[in-house]
Amino acid sequence: MTSPTRTVLVVNSGSSSLKCQLIDPDSGASLADGTVERIGEDSALAGVSAGEREARRDGPAIVDHEAALRTTFDLLEEVGTSLDAVNLVAVGHRAVHGGRSFYQPTPVTDELIAKMHELSPLAPLHNPPGVLGMEVARKILPDLPHIAVFDTAFFHDLPAASATYAIDRDVAEQWHIRRYGFHGTSHKYVSEQAAVFLDQPLASLNQIVLHLGNGASASAIAGGRPVDTSMGLTPLEGLVMGTRPGDIDPGIIFYLARTAKMSIDEIDEMLNRRSGVFGLGGEIDFRELHKQIGSGDTAAQLAYDVYIHRLRKYIGAYLALLGNTDVVVFTAGVGENDASVRRDALAGLTGLGIELDVHLNASPGHTARRVSADDSPTTVLVIPTNEELAIARDCIAVLTAER
Ligand code: ADP
Repeated sequence: MTSPTRTVLVVNSGSSSLKCQLIDPDSGASLADGTVERIGEDSALAGVSAGEREARRDGPAIVDHEAALRTTFDLLEEVGTSLDAVNLVAVGHRAVHGGRSFYQPTPVTDELIAKMHELSPLAPLHNPPGVLGMEVARKILPDLPHIAVFDTAFFHDLPAASATYAIDRDVAEQWHIRRYGFHGTSHKYVSEQAAVFLDQPLASLNQIVLHLGNGASASAIAGGRPVDTSMGLTPLEGLVMGTRPGDIDPGIIFYLARTAKMSIDEIDEMLNRRSGVFGLGGEIDFRELHKQIGSGDTAAQLAYDVYIHRLRKYIGAYLALLGNTDVVVFTAGVGENDASVRRDALAGLTGLGIELDVHLNASPGHTARRVSADDSPTTVLVIPTNEELAIARDCIAVLTAER
């Protein structure tokens, strides 16, 4: 591999984890990536890999995010990827909720950090750790530009009919309640890659993108512009996810509060951490869920069936919204790897123009690939997402525009 002329460090900071990736924005190559888990617990897991080289420091406690980032940099040195030697030009930060204020990639300033704190009630699980990541990275790398790239950005221009909740409009206006959508960096990247793969203009394609990871969301995209997406004010709405239920009757919340006397925080915790596939089937990872189903576990089977049922409902809804769908794209951990989810999500849709190729769908792969039958009017693709590369390229676009 030739040495990159410049690199961007992309930081994705969670409540007890910190993921970093060092990216050559020009070639798209990832030079190194590092993950620290269990920050603040008695014993942490920290690892970095760069090509064939790996370094780990599992065991000792890592007290906070600053220590986690410093540990990552130490491990990068150990694998021979010193930050001093790779012409680091920017640090990109994955930012989840930009509210109404932020939708363009935005330089991280004290003012942005203060506004992100104000937005925390909209994404209590995601925004505070994201801001923490920005603060510690700015402290350790003060001389570099830091740029926040928002998960909500791509959906900023959702049509009003999709973005608007049918609730009292004065309340919605006062409290900035609308459908914001999330995983936007992935939906945008993957839909663009689908056009590249098919060698067709993005503007000519109607697409349904299914981002199925631990968090999961669907989008309908016409000519590169979002028409609808399944997540809303918060990342709770829409598809069934690893630990979140997706769509539920909001009446459940009032009922639990009034009758079961659960506090709002308890309900919030249940809906964010103990629902979805995990809440029903006891597993978050689809590989484990399939093992349980194979051993005759009926709860695991029901979890899978509920997951697929919801996914099919969204696909059907988006086929109707788009009118004519050229491409269905599967991405993220489940979408890229789980052939049975793809098979069951699209089973019996020949009449709607979607037919999988059984063998292509069942063949594992790590690159963009077609999995639909040759004569399927709608093409079905599997496209690996790469949110880090998209963030790195957004950073370069900001730097270029500032010049
Ligand atoms: P996140 O939302 O945390 O970024 P990912 O997109 O990495 O999640 O997806 C992680 C999930 O992908 C795992 O929890 C697991 O359910 C699923 N997954 C990963 N590899 C496989 C596989 N080979 N087969 C089935 N599911 C997989």
